[in-house]
Amino acid sequence: MGSRFSLAMNVVLLLLFGSCTATRQTAVPPPSGPQVELAKPRNVIFLIGDGMGLPQITGAMYMNNNISVFERFKNIGFHKSNSSDNLVTDSAAGATAFASGVKTYNGAIGVNARKESVPTLLEMAEQKQMATGLIASSSITHATPAAFIAHVAGREDKEGIAVAFLDTPIDLFIGGGLDYFSRRKTDERDIVTELTAKGYRITNFIDQDIQQLDITTDKNIGYFTANAEPLPVSQGRDYLLPATTKALEFLDERSPNGFFLMIEGSQIDWGGHSNDANYVINEMHDFEKIVAAALDFAARDQSTLIVVTGDHETGGFAVQPGSTLNDIQVAFTTKSHTALMIPVFAAGPGAEAFRGIYENTAIFDKIKAALDLK
Ligand code: MG
Ligand code: ZN
Repeated sequence: MGSRFSLAMNVVLLLLFGSCTATRQTAVPPPSGPQVELAKPRNVIFLIGDGMGLPQITGAMYMNNNISVFERFKNIGFHKSNSSDNLVTDSAAGATAFASGVKTYNGAIGVNARKESVPTLLEMAEQKQMATGLIASSSITHATPAAFIAHVAGREDKEGIAVAFLDTPIDLFIGGGLDYFSRRKTDERDIVTELTAKGYRITNFIDQDIQQLDITTDKNIGYFTANAEPLPVSQGRDYLLPATTKALEFLDERSPNGFFLMIEGSQIDWGGHSNDANYVINEMHDFEKIVAAALDFAARDQSTLIVVTGDHETGGFAVQPGSTLNDIQVAFTTKSHTALMIPVFAAGPGAEAFRGIYENTAIFDKIKAALDLK
């Protein structure tokens, strides 16, 4: 119905204006008056809830006695989540927009629409001698974390993404996906051995409980939470919060120039794809714990910018009539992603820049400006 309507509108416009209707976008003039100089953070913690739109945040709030961690934010905006080739983005194009500020095609990891590599916030932070980290509740080679460190034409190239961890001296990474490093199908390389030779201390869930992860080291740290994909939180995955706490302590000590840390709540999206409301809500509540931990760190530190958003909404999730507090009735419109605008929450020095409505790529611009990255 929607497509027929817009087709009809275009025909009408064409009849009215002939070929002069090509530019439907209207340029918004910049706000007049003196530009306010925003405070500059030393650190940035960028938290991404994969598949987290306003419906997921709403559902998680009503299922938590009407309380949401997002109520702690005062600076709130929305981003337009579409990719270069689709109104409905995937996580690869969505994360590349955040990491590198370009609209690219669905499936792209750290490359633009012409498949050329584009520098990422994490790489730029390394250039500025900042400490850097990536944490995910998926494999660390999954699209969202991958777009901050790798440059490959397609997100399914997980082994190519693993190799990219040798290219940037990332200080810490925690997530699943050990198989893509050490039990590779495309070649005989062992990327864990190669990272160890480069000065990393790599451990995994079989050898060590993350609670015991020793962060008093001069080496860079890699910790694998699963051979492939980690479990849902409902089946016992419990590392996101301790990983976050340890990473913040480690990175904070690491560099006088501050740190850039991206943490992804990866599986909110998977609950949406499964049209499984409990999966969505459990993963939301897990993600909200790390948002709270980041806010608590920033409150103590006073020099950390927190940015929280989703890459897209998943499932066309809705809290339905008949819902009551802590017992919601839900529906889904799709097993895929949707094109909703996505809320952005910011706190700390420079957070005011995240107010308003803007493209997903603007989040890159704002973080880059806040940290004076080049
Ligand atoms: Mg993801
Ligand atoms: Zn998805």
